[in-house]
Amino acid sequence: MVQSGAGFGGIGMGAALGEDDLGEVTLFEKAERPGGVWRDNTYPGAACDVPSNLYSFTFAAGEWSRRFAPQVDILRYLEGVAEPLPIRLDTEVTDATWDDERAVWRLRTTTGEVEAEALVSACGQLSRPAVPDLPGLDRFTGPVFHSARWDHGVDLRGRRVAVVGSGASAIQFVPAIAPDAAQVTVFQRSAPYVIPKPDRPYGRRALSRRSRTWSRAARAFWTGFFEFGALGLTAIRPLAGSFTVAHRAMLRLQVRDTGLRARLAPDHPVGCKRVLLSSEWFRAVARPDVDVVTERIAEVTPDGIRTADGTHHPADVIVFGTGFHTQDYLAPMRVVGREGQELSERWRDGARAHLGVTVPGFPNLFVLYGPTTNVGSGSVVHMLECQVRYAREGVRRLAAGARTVEVRAEAASAYDVEMQDRLGDSVWTECTNWYRTESGRITNNWPGTMREYARRTAVFDDADYLFG
Ligand code: NAP
Repeated sequence: MVQSGAGFGGIGMGAALGEDDLGEVTLFEKAERPGGVWRDNTYPGAACDVPSNLYSFTFAAGEWSRRFAPQVDILRYLEGVAEPLPIRLDTEVTDATWDDERAVWRLRTTTGEVEAEALVSACGQLSRPAVPDLPGLDRFTGPVFHSARWDHGVDLRGRRVAVVGSGASAIQFVPAIAPDAAQVTVFQRSAPYVIPKPDRPYGRRALSRRSRTWSRAARAFWTGFFEFGALGLTAIRPLAGSFTVAHRAMLRLQVRDTGLRARLAPDHPVGCKRVLLSSEWFRAVARPDVDVVTERIAEVTPDGIRTADGTHHPADVIVFGTGFHTQDYLAPMRVVGREGQELSERWRDGARAHLGVTVPGFPNLFVLYGPTTNVGSGSVVHMLECQVRYAREGVRRLAAGARTVEVRAEAASAYDVEMQDRLGDSVWTECTNWYRTESGRITNNWPGTMREYARRTAVFDDADYLFG
């Protein structure tokens, strides 16, 4: 058994397989320590926007300093869970090729070659930062970095910082850097819906720290809260309408400047994109030394950014909060299945997998956080645990004597049609620029509730599979 990636998915899978006696398991991790996105995203203010009672494994309690844990807490938690696991660090899997004759995956890694009966990919959707190819960027004379590769060597005190993007990461780091920087200019393409974050510190005697029963009850409460968010805002249009009115009223209360308020008002229906949680974002952008620019970026100059209206915005540092290559999935790992078929080729017009986990023609491969498994409102850790349970059943079939476990093309195809129908029928049809691949498919989001996904992945239905 081989796994690639030691973030939340890989660690969860490693821990689950460790409970079974399924032969040798090895996790390969390209970095020098485990942790995935929580190792990589060290930007100031980095924290979870899902309460940690829900954003954690059901089988491992955490030590959280706040309701919405900061990055350091989550990384420490993950390292704790990963501690007993057989992880080979500093080793990237570059190629995985299916050997049909011997029914094994042959893997090439940066430290050598290995073979395994089963391969679990746990590479995440948010591991490869996306930096837009802005004209003139290479001529900029100051430091430039992405929020997921924060350059802590750059002192932002007294500097003019240009921030590109106003998504989940930017709304966390802008409030954190604004007090030190001389000027922060946020270049915003579309305004997010931001609602207050009901965060609070946990004292030593907080119930969430002392009582497992309390943590479980909190988990159930937050699950309901996010399920309601997912369902209510995308399926019940009057509720979405009321939310939009309430959001506008909140903006009016928090932002006095009418020009700024207009720029901060989202122009897309709620539910298109993740609703963001922050009690600091509006206060930060209302500061006199912070500006929000909505003009399109025309070019980067050696000392700033010029927008399409001709205005030059001077900057000493550029920080990209522009998200990730979310549709590349296993890339840059090259995965070759039966009859020499490349997964990237198979997914050329958009990734698809049965329940987000298994792919016809790629036996004994289990994908975690695969296509159509992202949740706009909820906990990805919940989704990962569902996938781990499901994939573990597949691996158990192998341990019980099957040489190969391969999803039937009909089962995968029916599932894919259902996903595209449901996604196409939802609020997301109004937000095509964000989610569709060039061929028009929606490949990231799960269209249902977390509970539905748990129910559908609870049973590994042998009728959906071919066994060799
Ligand atoms: P993001 O939420 O996808 O936001 C990216 C931002 O960059 C958006 O404002 C986007 O504008 C803008 N952008 C992208 N390309 C651009 C371009 N070429 N020119 C101008 N602006 C551009 O990315 P993120 O903030 O890095 O977050 C990524 C993911 O991490 C999200 O899915 C989020 O859920 C997750 N995250 C989670 C947590 C957590 O606590 N669980 C915390 C941080 C991040 P548009 O909106 O117009 O596309």
